[in-house]
Amino acid sequence: MKFADLGLSPEVLKAVEETGYESPTPIQEKAIPYVLMGRDVLGTAQTGTGKTASFTLPMIDILASGQAKARMPRSLILEPTRELAAQVADNFETYGKYSKLSMALLIGGMSFADQDAKLDKGVDVLIATPGRLLDHVERGKVLLNGVKTLVIDEADRMMDMGFIPDVERIVSLLPPLRQTLFFSATMSKDMRKLADKFLLNPKEVAVSLPTSTAATVTQGLVIVKRAEKRPALRKLLEKEEVKTAFIFCNRKKDVDILLGSLMKHGFNAGALHGDMSQSHRMETLDKFKAGEIKLLVCSDVAARGIDVSSVSHVFNFDVPTHAEDYIHRIGRTGRAGQEGHAYTIVTKSETKYLDGIQKLVGRDIPILSIDGMDQIAEEGAVIAEREKGSGRDAKKGRRRANDDAPPAKSSRKSAPRDDDKAPSKKSEARNADATEEKTKDKKPPRRSRQANDDQDPPVVGLGDNIPAFFKIPLRKTAQK
Ligand code: AMP
Repeated sequence: MKFADLGLSPEVLKAVEETGYESPTPIQEKAIPYVLMGRDVLGTAQTGTGKTASFTLPMIDILASGQAKARMPRSLILEPTRELAAQVADNFETYGKYSKLSMALLIGGMSFADQDAKLDKGVDVLIATPGRLLDHVERGKVLLNGVKTLVIDEADRMMDMGFIPDVERIVSLLPPLRQTLFFSATMSKDMRKLADKFLLNPKEVAVSLPTSTAATVTQGLVIVKRAEKRPALRKLLEKEEVKTAFIFCNRKKDVDILLGSLMKHGFNAGALHGDMSQSHRMETLDKFKAGEIKLLVCSDVAARGIDVSSVSHVFNFDVPTHAEDYIHRIGRTGRAGQEGHAYTIVTKSETKYLDGIQKLVGRDIPILSIDGMDQIAEEGAVIAEREKGSGRDAKKGRRRANDDAPPAKSSRKSAPRDDDKAPSKKSEARNADATEEKTKDKKPPRRSRQANDDQDPPVVGLGDNIPAFFKIPLRKTAQK
């Protein structure tokens, strides 16, 4: 199928052509005709599938007729994080370059005065995070009863972050006669219940989870002792032809520590996490996109949905405790059919998370050996073998497998999670639009995001499964 077959206007098609897209992605193919028909859409799609264009392209055409009125936006797009909101705004600028539409981006960390001025002039499209939008509503700066098209993007993330009450409040201020597009990466029962509240006879469109990204991504595990994590990462960085890379840590306090270490060793690196000011985050991201920063150390929450093409590598400095996060992380590389590499540094106490990950990606991830670190990888494999035993032997092996764990009284158990910084007051949370941070105060996340914890139960999972022959030299894998 071609873009021209979707019923989009010549202005939008011209803008799309200039981006160099050859054909619509599956979610675009499925959703765009229904959005143009004015139908409500319930979409299951993740970032990376082209879902932003699946709603922005038809919205530009829908908005082409009609005029913006002061403080009364005609359409509203809700995003869970500032970065995602800013990205959608970029998309609107790109795809709407031949359509005369006005847009305002309402996110925290930016001046209210500039946002007020835009609203006063009248905007066709309002792109906002829920907290900042409600601040404007409460200040009487924006009226939502003129909104004819609503997009709720990344709804599952909104739920994880405790934003649903805010979203419900916003929706209650909109006219009931409107078009609603609801997107979520996953479609659980809770999501459907929520969607039922907002949508009317929706057309359901879904694209499969991008486990397929794994096909273009060479994956590998490096098993090391805790103290060897940083040296192992450095070795990988030196060996691999890294153009740009995301390096993921599970906890945001580790992001800064790792950044400091990498910089000390002369690597060109930057960091992204929820404690940074908005301007600093944007600046870092722009530098990374421009290639001025080569390595971006980040947390899952801060990096969620950030769209940077041509990332050659993803390094998991920590094994993600939830398998879906592994998919999200490695989906940053190997995009659009390009070759990508995703390496995960694993301590023995983290091997228990590998089972779920391997089930989700549908394959065993090979254990790599790195020159000079063979011994460590060897040890990992030996332990994996030992784990195959039963009874007391296996137990012993497990105990040994946790050798790199700190003492039991370690304070790690209460160490802050990546998304743990709770704002003291609700208004502060809004002003900072500290989307990640707000989560914990309002409502616990759907899944308990347990920090990698060294006092966890005995090692199970990969330790039981990976045979030694899976160990292949790094270079061989990297050339795949
Ligand atoms: P999204 O899922 O909206 O975050 O989009 C992921 C990436 O895919 C972005 O870099 C888009 O620019 C890109 N993209 C969107 N639509 C297409 C398309 N039809 N062909 C190629 N790339 C696309």
